[in-house]
Amino acid sequence: MSTETQAQYQFIDKIIQHHLGSTTEVKDLEFFYGGNFNLAVRVKLQSGDEYFIKWNQGDHQGLFEAEAKNLHLVGSTSTISVPSVIGVGSMEEKEYLMMECIPSGEKAANYWVDFGEKLARLHRNTSPKGHGLDYTNYLGSAAQINTWNSDGVAFFTENRLRKQLTQAVYDRKIEGALEEKLEVLFEKLPSLLPNESSALIHGDLWSGNAMTNPLGQITLVDPACYYGLREAELAFTTMFGGFEEAFYEAYNANFPIHKGFHERIPLYNLYPLLVHVNLFGEGYLPAVKKIVESY
Ligand code: ADP
Repeated sequence: MSTETQAQYQFIDKIIQHHLGSTTEVKDLEFFYGGNFNLAVRVKLQSGDEYFIKWNQGDHQGLFEAEAKNLHLVGSTSTISVPSVIGVGSMEEKEYLMMECIPSGEKAANYWVDFGEKLARLHRNTSPKGHGLDYTNYLGSAAQINTWNSDGVAFFTENRLRKQLTQAVYDRKIEGALEEKLEVLFEKLPSLLPNESSALIHGDLWSGNAMTNPLGQITLVDPACYYGLREAELAFTTMFGGFEEAFYEAYNANFPIHKGFHERIPLYNLYPLLVHVNLFGEGYLPAVKKIVESY
């Protein structure tokens, strides 16, 4: 075992003992390196119980605390399954999140229909405060400032699009004509997007965050949730694809989608695209330009 692996083993052991007691013994670790910047591990104990722990180097303070709150919030609606949180904290200058492990199962025949129905039920949760959330959370490592706004389109424009544009301009990733065109488009959004009551959305709904649990049903991980425009969530699912038609049909049967949604998808996806520009670079700019030029 390399010194680094040994250190990681000891670190995991310390977290386990902190939350489950000193008699707990780790049997096996399976490392995941799939995330953007976090390390993750699936821990098997001698007892047979399994847990999932993610951690970072302490360079994204508060991120896991927010993720734990996100999981609690989505879980509290009892609409769609999320892993339960065992503990969140910091140790050895690293921050970690320990949760229930979701072993992967095979999709049941009704997986997509059930998922669509459950997402519709999640989206039926609204907030009297409007659009926003009581705390800052993160999409990947991008901070989402969630100051409440009674106007959904204004919230989406200011707290999502403009926040990312300001960052991109500051970093000189976007400037000149594109910046101006985006500003013009932002002005037009109230006439292009339907303003609805807020819906609690997962906020990072791509197929990588949609797990199949041992019952063959959906369990969502890694939420970046907030009360916002539900169409933004549905649009997000189309960014990288992988969601079957039955999912959208079941959603629509339970919470009808307004006419013209397909034409609005690119407008909503400007948000994750601008986040990608800021986090991963200019490779995502052509997609942004294409959207801006088509409206
Ligand atoms: P990151 O925040 O680094 O992107 P994710 O939370 O998306 O990490 O997790 C990365 C992968 O790890 C997921 O795609 C999923 O396969 C797996 N995973 C996440 N949470 C759990 C869990 N509670 N139990 C089992 N596997 C999980």
